[in-house]
Amino acid sequence: MRPDPSAPASDGEPSVADGVLVLSSEFAGSARRNGVFLIAAARPTMVETGVALAADRVTSALHAAGIGRRDLANIVVTHVHLDHAGGVGELARRFPAATVWVHPAGARHLVDPGRLMASAREVHGPLLSTVYGEMMPVAADRIRTAGDGAVIDLGDRSLTVVHTPGHAPHHMALLDSLGTLFTGDAAGVRIPGMRVPRPATPPPSFHAHAARDSLTRMATLSPQRLVLTHFGAVDQPVEYLADLTDRLESWCAVAEGAVRRGATVAALERELLRRFGAAEGLPAADPVRFAATGGYAANAAGLWRWVRGQRESVASEGRP
Ligand SMILES: [Zn+2]
Repeated sequence: MRPDPSAPASDGEPSVADGVLVLSSEFAGSARRNGVFLIAAARPTMVETGVALAADRVTSALHAAGIGRRDLANIVVTHVHLDHAGGVGELARRFPAATVWVHPAGARHLVDPGRLMASAREVHGPLLSTVYGEMMPVAADRIRTAGDGAVIDLGDRSLTVVHTPGHAPHHMALLDSLGTLFTGDAAGVRIPGMRVPRPATPPPSFHAHAARDSLTRMATLSPQRLVLTHFGAVDQPVEYLADLTDRLESWCAVAEGAVRRGATVAALERELLRRFGAAEGLPAADPVRFAATGGYAANAAGLWRWVRGQRESVASEGRP
């Protein structure tokens, strides 16, 4: 059945773009934080799945939007981090006609999430079972790998895949033929209440130069709006991307200086917070909430690792 684009999503979220509903935005106990989107096209298509623990809520929201068990045509994930793709295995099982689309470098993690879950266990500790849940595998024959420029046919509109490495090497954004660019984490994070956006620079594979190039590339696509997974629509995409590029440069400069002075990850985190935290305008009252969406601890760890990697590769180039 074709969904009704004017129908509210089950948790009362408004649509964020033409025929794009928010199926869930709940994460770590608060709303408008972690988007799971339904494009109400002739071939109904989800962008992102949310965490594994959200699978029941997302399933109910899909049903409320008129999507039956065999109606969902595509599930597309921007990358395989657990807040974006954690529910993919369970949702693919519940919606057996859906094709799962992922960056070629992310596909193996969907078929066998073992390594991904092991590293997530290391990073998130006890939060893994209370905030994220366990990613279930996807059968290999349900997966289509999405090369740069691939077009996903939604019947009356389409999504073009735009590889946007930096946040992670296997990251892709999606340009809707109606003008919306789904940016995953490649265009950072701006959750309601934040005055300014925050780059998303987590370990283990954040790469600053790739991230900056991806911001430039997204701007050259001239999208009409961005939809951030964390969270929602940005109506001045060019200004937003330019601003975020400047912020990323500033963060990298701070990280490079701190690492040169021998700072630990924890010291870098404190310095980033001191330099940039106040400008965001977020209340400092709820560290867990902010830690769960690209918090400063994860960002500091990713930047620190990137700067160290750069220094080591420069040092090894100088060796005979
Ligand atoms: Zn991510």
